[in-house]
Amino acid sequence: MPAVVLKSLEMAFGGQAVLKNVDLEIGDREFVVVVGPSGCGKSTLLRILAGLEAPASGDVLIDGQSVLGVAPAKRGVAMVFQSYALYPHLSVFENMAFALKVAGKAPDEIRAAVERAARLLGIEALMDRKPKALSGGQRQRVAIGRAIVRKPSLFLLDEPLSNLDAGLRVHMRHEFARLHRELKTTTVYVTHDQVEAMTLADKIVVLNEGRIEQVGSPLEVYHAPKTLFVASFLGSPR
Ligand code: ADP
Ligand code: MG
Repeated sequence: MPAVVLKSLEMAFGGQAVLKNVDLEIGDREFVVVVGPSGCGKSTLLRILAGLEAPASGDVLIDGQSVLGVAPAKRGVAMVFQSYALYPHLSVFENMAFALKVAGKAPDEIRAAVERAARLLGIEALMDRKPKALSGGQRQRVAIGRAIVRKPSLFLLDEPLSNLDAGLRVHMRHEFARLHRELKTTTVYVTHDQVEAMTLADKIVVLNEGRIEQVGSPLEVYHAPKTLFVASFLGSPR
């Protein structure tokens, strides 16, 4: 059974169609990259998966169950936003512990989960700092840490590298690949960056103007593009 199924998903804002008849299956433990130009509907798709937005029509199944109407906190998903959205007044530890505290976990359990995630991300030494005392790359690690301490069954990442400089982007790309090998959490990763898509994905979903143009392995979409758009978007060097 696929971990996630999107069925005939439609979304519109102010009469403008943003997602058009989106059908997609995501396998358990799969790393799926949704790639497409700015404004094509990537963030909207993730927000619907996370439960932050309701689709106009269609269905979203997680582990075989429709989650429409299920609150974000009850979906077993964790999302990392483009802006990271850390709490500025809280320390790194408190940022990472926040969701677990709200969920009523015991202090010992929270500390253990935060320390484990911090070790995995190499940020053990930053636990007492405030976000403003961190570099862009460190903030991004904290944002990821905050998501993984919850042990989500589905990990959603919205252009997590777009605020980093080119060198750090390459480094963090490798970190994401490593993290996925270790945690094996089903992941939907959204980007407009073709290189990120080609290097990270088990499966690439090419989105254009709210429509899925092609779904396939990086090799398939690169060597056998189904549409002119896919050929020009993924085939041409940047
Ligand atoms: P992407 O993440 O691929 O850049 P988005 O999903 O953010 O694309 O947006 C897709 C389209 O929907 C854009 O035209 C955007 O302006 C519009 N849009 C997104 N969110 C809203 C909103 N809350 N209200 C109105 N229009 C929106
Ligand atoms: Mg976006």
